Amino acid sequence: MPASKGARRPFFCGNWKLQGTVNESVALATEVRNGVATLRDVDVVVAPSFTAIHAVARRLEGGPVSVAGQDCFWEDKGAFTGEVSAPQLSDAGCKFVILGHSERRQLMGELDAAVNLKAKAALRAGLAPIICVGETLAERDAGETLGRVGAQVDAALTDLTAADLARSIVAYEPVWAIGTGRNATAAQAQEVHRFIRTRLAAKFADLAPTVRILYGGSVKPDNIKALMAEEDVDGGLVGGASLIADSFIRIVKEGSV
Ligand code: PEP
Repeated sequence: MPASKGARRPFFCGNWKLQGTVNESVALATEVRNGVATLRDVDVVVAPSFTAIHAVARRLEGGPVSVAGQDCFWEDKGAFTGEVSAPQLSDAGCKFVILGHSERRQLMGELDAAVNLKAKAALRAGLAPIICVGETLAERDAGETLGRVGAQVDAALTDLTAADLARSIVAYEPVWAIGTGRNATAAQAQEVHRFIRTRLAAKFADLAPTVRILYGGSVKPDNIKALMAEEDVDGGLVGGASLIADSFIRIVKEGSV
């Protein structure tokens, strides 16, 4: 598996979580768009709340920043009160969807099997899934990091084809680093990113070197460079620091030079 980091375009996604009115989201998206307008060779994505997706997508249309959903349901339509489907996200202007975020796994009881169904729904609808995996602090302390992450990767990718994986992105997000201000060290991230790539290679040897694996967990302008210096870290999934345009723009700039 010859690694070829240069062939993997850096990718940064701001996860705005449950934050922002429509107007606030459009304003933040506009600032991000303006701040990255001159950058080349980097993919920039923002993930607003569902209610703001359409307005943000309209504002960003034709520009360098794409829009992601923060979740989707696994069925396309039907009697599923409160859910939002992948085709609806696509219709609203999304190109990507974050799936299996640890907050959904921990707070909403989302299981590996659901993440797999959602990934298939996203791909069916033409969306690129950003599949999140990561261990809890207890799992890390018990030496179970690679076992847990490997199981999550295998489960999420069950029955996906090579063409599906080619459109997918994986995000390694150690749960203990999300929103805590405590990021994984570059070496800790690299160990798990390498492991994930090797795991992908077991099923799709030719493709694994081309799949982008993002790091997420307290990414900030002052730590992204060290993380991106690692061979298998291809970008960032950014929560808190993406809510301030200037800090997200600095992360994108620092991380893509
Ligand atoms: C996230 O929400 O995916 C995340 C990584 O959050 P934060 O950057 O705030 O740790």
